[in-house]
Amino acid sequence: MEQRRHETRRARKKLTTITMLLVAFWSSVSAQFRYSVLEEVPEGTVVGNIAKDLGLDKTTLKERGIRIVYGSTEPPFIVRQDDGVLYVKGKIDREEICERRKVCTIDLKTVLQNPLEIHHVVVEILDVNDHSPVFPQKENILEVSESALPGAKFQLQAARDADSGLLSVQQYRLSQNGHFRLEVKDRGEDRKTPSLVLEKPLDRESIKNHVLLLTALDGGKPPRSGNMTIIVNVSDVNDNPPVFSQESYTVSLKENSPVGTTVIQVNATDLDEGPNGEVEYSFGNDVDARSRESFSLNPLTGVIVVAGAIDFEENSRYEIDVQASDKGAATLNTEKSVIINIVDINDNEPEIEVTSFSHALPEDSKPGTTVALISVKDADSGLNGKVMCYINNDLPFLLTPSLQNNMYSLVTKTVLDQEQKSQYNVLIIAKDAGEPSLHSEKNIKVDVSDVNDNVPEFSQNPYTFYVYENNAPGEKIVSVTARDKDDGSNAIISYQILRNTEVTNMPTSFINVNSETGDIVALKSFDFETLKTFQFQVVASDSGSPSLSSNVTVNVFILDQNDNA
Ligand code: CA
Ligand code: CA
Ligand code: CA
Ligand code: CA
Ligand code: CA
Ligand code: CA
Ligand code: CA
Repeated sequence: MEQRRHETRRARKKLTTITMLLVAFWSSVSAQFRYSVLEEVPEGTVVGNIAKDLGLDKTTLKERGIRIVYGSTEPPFIVRQDDGVLYVKGKIDREEICERRKVCTIDLKTVLQNPLEIHHVVVEILDVNDHSPVFPQKENILEVSESALPGAKFQLQAARDADSGLLSVQQYRLSQNGHFRLEVKDRGEDRKTPSLVLEKPLDRESIKNHVLLLTALDGGKPPRSGNMTIIVNVSDVNDNPPVFSQESYTVSLKENSPVGTTVIQVNATDLDEGPNGEVEYSFGNDVDARSRESFSLNPLTGVIVVAGAIDFEENSRYEIDVQASDKGAATLNTEKSVIINIVDINDNEPEIEVTSFSHALPEDSKPGTTVALISVKDADSGLNGKVMCYINNDLPFLLTPSLQNNMYSLVTKTVLDQEQKSQYNVLIIAKDAGEPSLHSEKNIKVDVSDVNDNVPEFSQNPYTFYVYENNAPGEKIVSVTARDKDDGSNAIISYQILRNTEVTNMPTSFINVNSETGDIVALKSFDFETLKTFQFQVVASDSGSPSLSSNVTVNVFILDQNDNA
């Protein structure tokens, strides 16, 4: 209101400087007057005094009459009959009458009678700043790629202001922002076109939308303004590679884990949008065939699962490169190592290997004689592969560890006796320290070989036999038997009559012994009346080397028969 009153006062001052033109018109003298009035003034506002300007007094005016003619429609003015003052009749809207014309005038004709006189009156409608700049849209949405370079220009729609000249749009202002500046192209008249100019590169990943306010100001004092919101939607470009959530991935996996066991899940994210930000996982190009057989990778979830046999003894560590790729047109990708340490499981029994020294062990071997060498192996590691080796306790053997790791000697603990036990079964047990422990056994058969350490022994010592006289010569009269505890030839006995060369022992000359059977034959018939008893010695010798022998005394008593009449 204050503004409007101020402008009205200013315009009234102008009224005092009316231009009056005199022009030859028709057959009579006519004049042209020019008045000016502000638009939108209240009804009854005085525009000018035509009578006074024509130099007519009130009496003359009354005689001649005065009226105005304005085209075919009602003029927005009226002239007062009694004093010739032109005043405003209705609402005058300059913008309605003249739209955007720079100078807005209304041509009137003043008609006087007796004589007929026509005078031209031009009323200039002075503009008042009663319109604000208006944008065709309240909101303008721009799609700008984040790859747009500084200097890129985006033309905007201009604001319109129905007022004319300085009262129309004079300048634009852009709200404070970090990326855009405003450039206004002046096309003359009141046509100014605003454009946004990119000053600093955009990054969709930090700011997705920029909301700017464009203000158009007219030249009024104070100016009126209109606003338009500009929304800059930053469209995505694939400018970010996927990023893994961890610097490195390390995981432990038990060997023998079944197929399908989840090992680890890798995760990568991509800041971009849509396919540019969708991540897919795959094995890197350097991943070898063995790793690809043992593990598989879900391309969507990044989960690595066991796909084949996991054997610590074959491979205790895998280093697998995993690649994360986005689905942008020009794919970006990142690689990361996944280290899988295989944990040993006690899945191997100890193995026992025996190297025997000889086929059989002589029974006279000294204590400490090595019988066999034993080596043990276990494919596992640590405690799972640490092997203890022992034998059953009740045997005349010892298992002694050697300086070399996992090597043992089986040695005799005491003197052996083939006659008591000729064969031993030594059970070797190897046990690892795993949890639970695994063990294996191996039986060693130790044969004790015979040594000739037993003399033949006669069944009686001495022998006493009773034989009847008149025996048939060459017949077996008695028999001796000796046994030998040894084995084989060490126990094969041959018998012999001991013939003393110094003392001529008569009976031995007619006695013979079968060397194999020990049967004794007499070569002559005995006669009780001449020989009642005799004695000899038999030697039993084994076939050992050297041979052992023993003697026995055989006493023979002849028994009487009634052979003398
Ligand atoms: Ca206006
Ligand atoms: Ca990307
Ligand atoms: Ca991006
Ligand atoms: Ca193992
Ligand atoms: Ca083991
Ligand atoms: Ca013997
Ligand atoms: Ca023997």
